[in-house]
Amino acid sequence: MSNQKVLAGIDIGGTTVKLALFTVKGEILAKWEIPTDKTDYGKKIMEDVKVAVTNKLAELNIPYESLKAAGVGAPGPVDTENGILQGAVNIGWKDNFPLRDLMQSALNVPVAIENDANAAALGEMWKGAGSGAKDLICITLGTGVGGGVIVNGDIVHGSNGAAGEIGHLTSVPRDGYLCNCGKRGCLETVASATGIVRTATDKLATFEGNSVLKDLLQQNGKISAKDIFDAAKSGDQLALETVLSLADHLGLALANIGSVFNPERIVVGGGVSKAGDFLLDKIRQAFDQYSFKAVAESTEIVLAKLGNDAGIVGAGWLAANKI
Ligand SMILES: [Zn+2]
Repeated sequence: MSNQKVLAGIDIGGTTVKLALFTVKGEILAKWEIPTDKTDYGKKIMEDVKVAVTNKLAELNIPYESLKAAGVGAPGPVDTENGILQGAVNIGWKDNFPLRDLMQSALNVPVAIENDANAAALGEMWKGAGSGAKDLICITLGTGVGGGVIVNGDIVHGSNGAAGEIGHLTSVPRDGYLCNCGKRGCLETVASATGIVRTATDKLATFEGNSVLKDLLQQNGKISAKDIFDAAKSGDQLALETVLSLADHLGLALANIGSVFNPERIVVGGGVSKAGDFLLDKIRQAFDQYSFKAVAESTEIVLAKLGNDAGIVGAGWLAANKI
């Protein structure tokens, strides 16, 4: 395998660093993860990645010189031109962190960096549900709501790297919930796992009818997003109203984004998307209701395919296309 060219994809999160080695065509040769060492302002992470990659290449009998490039996804706004990452506080890194240059010195190959949500969107475009599409919106419904906007096969960054922050579109003007970003009424306050739980819990406070969720809240002291979807699927009225409200917010936001970008496909991922077609159908209905006709007719809405691997696959795409 000595003539083989190999690429590395690295997805740095607050708990683990996910890694993969790829062929130039994007076939995965190995995929694994290491814990994120956040001590000492996350100084050791670059060296840990270097050791992990070196050992894995040795294990696969691939000489280190076969490694030609690496892509890195990390949480926070990224200045891709200068290779600078901002505000990755949950990794311990300080502001204006020169991630690209530090990773380049550690690995001794060219490195490209990208925000992790954007990397996940690129991963879905390269090998997942967006495969074959060049105009793509990806939305990730997890604890928060993440997004990535791809136009003509590449991520849209905007002037400050903050484009595609779909989770912070204002969905509830004026008296919405306070968001972690400091603004009120952001999409993620109503359309994330956290948001749907809060919506249901608020409804329950004044609800006088019967609901499975009422019983679960009494028994366990809390309810989860999965409880809400399970109850909605079995016909529980309050749970169904909650899911419809979430789908309505998402459909409206996506319809507005659709009018700007006219995407070929919208890819919906993240933990909440495990609700599957039950949720997708409701988002589709709301999307059709709010969309400009030509946009509604030309946009598919599909479930993400790569799950937690989307970030490393997108990092692999960076290594293949941005060096
Ligand atoms: Zn926000």
